[in-house]
Amino acid sequence: MAGNAGVAQGTNPTTAVVVAKGTVTVVAFPLNYWEYSGLQLYFKSKKDNSIDNTASKKYKQAATAPHDYVVQLQKDLIALNYLPAKDDYRDGYFGPETQRAVARFQRHAARPYRMPQPDIGTGECFAGGETGVCDFATAQEIRKWISKNWTLPLARFPLRAISVVGVVTGGKLREDAAAAWGEIVTLAQAQGATLEGPYGDTTRVLQRMTKSGTSRYSFHYCGRAVDINQALGGGNGQRYFIVKEASGQQMYWRIYCKTANSSGAHIKALTKGQVKYYSFFNGKDIDIPAGNYVDLTTLIESSGKFERIKAQSGWEKDYNKTEWWHFQYIVAKQATFLDEMELIGYSEQQLRIAGWSNDAMLDHPPG
Ligand SMILES: [Zn+2]
Repeated sequence: MAGNAGVAQGTNPTTAVVVAKGTVTVVAFPLNYWEYSGLQLYFKSKKDNSIDNTASKKYKQAATAPHDYVVQLQKDLIALNYLPAKDDYRDGYFGPETQRAVARFQRHAARPYRMPQPDIGTGECFAGGETGVCDFATAQEIRKWISKNWTLPLARFPLRAISVVGVVTGGKLREDAAAAWGEIVTLAQAQGATLEGPYGDTTRVLQRMTKSGTSRYSFHYCGRAVDINQALGGGNGQRYFIVKEASGQQMYWRIYCKTANSSGAHIKALTKGQVKYYSFFNGKDIDIPAGNYVDLTTLIESSGKFERIKAQSGWEKDYNKTEWWHFQYIVAKQATFLDEMELIGYSEQQLRIAGWSNDAMLDHPPG
């Protein structure tokens, strides 16, 4: 429908006050939703939700919200890319889709990311909580975004090639993770260790995997994960010695990288057998050769930006489940898979086409 300027006041029973026969005066509600300090636009059930004038006429249900408040809100959510630009989404009926859009907006507004950039300070972020209810504070925030031409942040951290001078790497990560990983690779090189590629996996093509045992929400999709070079973990020229490190029922790994250097923050001199490393080929612990080693796991994790992960259950029988090579970027992990993917530039529409076809998948935690 076209604009709301022409909506006749008094047609909405929730706003009309009859003062004399044939005379109707509206005093209760301002014309625009963002001007009403008592605002509560919401969905609880089909019998208890916000229905404005437009939806009241269209669906022949009693209005429960003033004027065209819900249409106005929906148009704003469409302008901000939180609802698709279709008539179904600007019908004045506050349903589950509008609720989800409001919740996503509230969650995103609580972050410092703003597109177009620049980001804002954390103290300036929306603090109203993720309720899915459009209250006055949420309405003010929405109008702030409209006035500043901010929209749903897409590609705030686009994928970038991992690039380190003089080192073969390969692969892509989101740009902040690629930079952070590059610094770690450089640090390892400086101690005579290596994190050179080619990497087993970094980011993945946008296609939801259906094979069992592979995460449909992996941080690899999100441009946050790197699988270091497995070839360095055995054979001739072995550099990595991978040590079991149990934590309760979980198995983690610690990677010692052989180095010719004798001093450095992460270098340890080990005598033969001082540490047992695990041979995946033989399925047993073996004495580590005497020499100098960089504790690569500590070097990586002391950046505060990447973490190792535990082995998947059944790793003893399936090398692919050991995950000793997998490290992932931990800075500002997002609440949902969709939130992660939007930050590297994939839209909700693209994800739906690629196989994450419903809200439960899109709103699943990443990782
Ligand atoms: Zn991995």
